[in-house]
Amino acid sequence: SPATTTGPVTTTAPAPDDRPALRFGERALTYAELAAAAGATAAGVRGAGRVAVWATPSMETAVAVVGTLLAGVAAVPLNPKSGEKELAHILADSAPSLVLAAPGDPLPAALAGLTRVDVDVHATGPVPDDGDADDGDPALVVYTSGTTGPPKGAVLPRRSLSSTLDALADAWQWTGDDVLVHGLPLFHVHGLVLGTLGPLRRGGSVRHLGRFSAEGVARELTAGATMLFGVPTMYHRLAEALPGDPGLAEALAGARLLVSGSAALPVHDHERIAAATGRRVIERYGMTETLMNTSVRADGEARAGTVGVPLPGVELRLAEEDGSQVSAYDGETVGEIQVRGPNLFTEYLNRPEATAAAFTADGFFRTGDMAVRDPDGYVRIVGRKATDLIKSGGYKIGAGEIENALLEHPAVREAAVTGEPDADLGERIVAWVVPADPAAPPALAELADHVARRLAPHKRPRVLHHLDTLPRNDMGKIMKRALRHD
Ligand code: ATP
Ligand code: MG
Repeated sequence: SPATTTGPVTTTAPAPDDRPALRFGERALTYAELAAAAGATAAGVRGAGRVAVWATPSMETAVAVVGTLLAGVAAVPLNPKSGEKELAHILADSAPSLVLAAPGDPLPAALAGLTRVDVDVHATGPVPDDGDADDGDPALVVYTSGTTGPPKGAVLPRRSLSSTLDALADAWQWTGDDVLVHGLPLFHVHGLVLGTLGPLRRGGSVRHLGRFSAEGVARELTAGATMLFGVPTMYHRLAEALPGDPGLAEALAGARLLVSGSAALPVHDHERIAAATGRRVIERYGMTETLMNTSVRADGEARAGTVGVPLPGVELRLAEEDGSQVSAYDGETVGEIQVRGPNLFTEYLNRPEATAAAFTADGFFRTGDMAVRDPDGYVRIVGRKATDLIKSGGYKIGAGEIENALLEHPAVREAAVTGEPDADLGERIVAWVVPADPAAPPALAELADHVARRLAPHKRPRVLHHLDTLPRNDMGKIMKRALRHD
C-alpha cells in the first residue's frame, strides 16, 4: 500500500497505511486513519495563530497535536489538572484563538471565553502539504512544570522537536519496529514529544495506558511492546510491586529499553529493579526549554545516578559561578550545565528579559541544573542551583546524594532534602521524610548517623520533619518550594 506521510515533524520514515500508530485503551488508529483525522483537524485550525489543546491522555489530544503540526499552527497543551488560576495565567499569557478538545469533555470556566473545536478522531481530511513550514516556526508552546516558580511558556520551533527525536533515535537505536508503553500525561514534553511524536516520527506505535499501572505495563510488555518511558515515581511503583509479582519481573526483563526522565531516578529504585529483573533503567536528562540534552545510550553502560552523555548535536559544558568553564572530568567539580544545539527553544513567551537572562553571550542556555562529569564523560546531576545546592560549613552539598542515602534506610519510604539558614553553618541540612511505617518513624540521630557513615559527617541532616506524603506536581516532581514555605 502507498506510504502515508503525516508531515516532516511527525514522520521521517513513512509507515505503511495499515500499520498501527496509536492505541488508547480500546481505541486504535492506523497511520492512514491518523493522517486522515489529523488532516481534518488541520483544516479546522489553519491560519489560527496559536491553538490551545485540552490535553487529556486521549486519542483526541494526539490527533489535535499532529493536526496543528500539519497546519503549521502552534499548539499550547493545557494540563487538565491545572487549577483555575494557573489556567487563567496560561490563557492570558498565550492568547490562543481556540481550544481543541475531545467531544463531550467538560471544560472549566477559565476556558469559557474561548471558541471550542471538537476533535473528531474518525473525521477524514486531506493531509496538507506542510512543506512550506520553516524549521524555525513555532510548533508548540509548552509551559514548564512550575517546580521552581510560576510556569513559563517555552516556544519550541519545529527544529527542536525533529532534532531531539532524531538524536534520541541514534542514542536508543529507536526504530519503527519499537512499540512504546506510555502512561504519562500529554501536556508535558516527556509524554507529548518523546512519548507520542517520537514513535510517530519513527513509524512505530504507541500503546497508552490511560492511567499508569504496574499491571498495564506488564500486560503491554508481555504482549509485544518493546519500550517503556516513565518518570521516577512510576519506576518507584514498579520497584515496590516487583517482589510480589514474578510476571512483572519477566515482562520488564523482556523489554528492549526502560527509560526514566523528568526528575532524578533514586539509586535505590534503580538497584531494586536491576536486582529483580536483570535490567538497568537508562536515564535521560532534558527540560521543556531544551528537550533532550543527554542520555545513557542503548549500547552504553547504564549506571545508577547518571544521565549519560550529550546527545548528538548537543554541546554541553559545565560553568563555574564566575562563568569560566569546568574542564575537569573528575567526577567532583560541580558546575552549572549549559547547552547549545538545534534542540533549544526560541524564547519564553512574553518574557524577553527572562529569555535574555537564560542565554550566555555565545548562545548557550543556562539550565540551572548543577552537575559533575565523570572521567568517561558521563554527566551526573547534583541538583538544581536554586533548591538543591546547600552551602553548609564551607561545603557545597548536593541534596540528591543525601536523598539517595536516606532512601536506602529501611525506615524511609520517601525523602527530600533542603537547606535552611543557620547562624553557624550558613545553611543547615533539613531532611523531610515519609516513614515506611507511620507508627515507627525514624529518629533524627539514627538518620544522621546513617548519612554520616555512608557519605561524610558534614552531609548529615541537622533537622528532620516527618510527613505523610511529599508535595509533588503532576509529573511526580517534588515541589521543594512547598516544603520551604511550610
Ligand atoms: P520550572 O522550570 O517551571 O521550575 P521544571 O524545571 O521542573 O519547572 P521541566 O522543564 O518539566 O520543568 O523540568 C526540567 C527539569 O527537570 C530539569 O531542569 C532538571 O532539573 C529536571 N530533570 C529532568 N530530567 C532529569 C533527570 N534525568 N535527572 C535529574 N533531573 C532531571
Ligand atoms: Mg525549569
